[in-house]
Amino acid sequence: MKARILDRANVLKIVDLLREQGREVFAPFGGRGRDTFFDLVTNDNRDQIEIHLPNPYYPPKRFLLPHIERLFRIQRTNGLIQIEPTYREPRRAIFGIRSCDLAGIWHLDRFYLGREYRDVYYEKRRRNLFLVNVVCTDVERDIDDDCFCVCADTGPAARDHFDLQLMDLGDEFMVVAGTPEGEALFADPVFRKASPNHVEKRRAILSAVRKRFKVATSWFSATVRYVSLGKVMEKTWEEVGNRCLECGGCSYVCPACTCFTVSDRQLGTQEAERVRIWDACALGGFTRMAGGHNPRKAVHDRRNRRFFRKLAHHFIQRELSMACAGCGRCAEVCHGDVGMPSVVEMIRRASAEVDKHEPVSH
Ligand code: SF4
Ligand code: SF4
Repeated sequence: MKARILDRANVLKIVDLLREQGREVFAPFGGRGRDTFFDLVTNDNRDQIEIHLPNPYYPPKRFLLPHIERLFRIQRTNGLIQIEPTYREPRRAIFGIRSCDLAGIWHLDRFYLGREYRDVYYEKRRRNLFLVNVVCTDVERDIDDDCFCVCADTGPAARDHFDLQLMDLGDEFMVVAGTPEGEALFADPVFRKASPNHVEKRRAILSAVRKRFKVATSWFSATVRYVSLGKVMEKTWEEVGNRCLECGGCSYVCPACTCFTVSDRQLGTQEAERVRIWDACALGGFTRMAGGHNPRKAVHDRRNRRFFRKLAHHFIQRELSMACAGCGRCAEVCHGDVGMPSVVEMIRRASAEVDKHEPVSH
């Protein structure tokens, strides 16, 4: 992968080049306190873009999978029914997407495009999306207490799935191209060639940053094994379920959750639309069927489904990607402290207790 160097003062030149291509560019901004968000870059806010800040809770997956989206419109004219799909094919870029969220988008790609059925709505948005990854290097601002990309093997520096990757080296940024479209931007004279010293400096910074993560989820792989082999005890799932308030927050902030529901809405006497809306397995109605039967009525039955979906080998193999990117958002928003790191720890502790082979004395 080709690398170039940008002076710190020129780093937003990338945003300018992408806007000159006619793209809508979304970038991270700071609000009050911990509040951070992705927003459309305009001439007025361009200079307020922040490179280092806590990752926004509302994940950038919404630029591919809006939380509510019209699929088609149904109209009756003179007794004839017409169905008109609503496709949107925006030319967009996300500047400043973190490595965990890139892994989340890769998981969505595998889910929506990677098997026999391709989701045409997702595909049209994905086709023209340019991704500029920023490596988390500022341990005070970029890395939250609950981040564990190092354990999920998604960060802090993504290895692929970006068009450009930016890494802060101090006075300069190293820019790596991951696709021909990314490399094409290097034609601008603002980019300089990188030297072996730059590459060495990048390696040293990454090595130091990796040691600063606080969450100890080195049990992640053991938990994948316990979940895949069905070794998690019912009482552990019940404990997780008892602590869940069924708010759905963990799914809404998750960059790798894929579930949606569809609903029809009447718009007038002769017009209706079908929309899809993010859904969450924590919500009581998630598994309710027509007629009212709900095979997963108990909250712990729906909670264990979430962790099977994210950690069981069957799903990882099916999608060649894990449905957890290690972003830590679910741990940050959960009122019951049953985000991914806590559940991994609960499963590992409880299962290891049962699994242990103690010597007998007789
Ligand atoms: S965020 Fe926590 S309390 Fe809310 S649905 Fe998820 S697990 Fe339950
Ligand atoms: S399960 Fe939690 S930690 Fe994993 S990607 Fe989703 S929100 Fe992030």
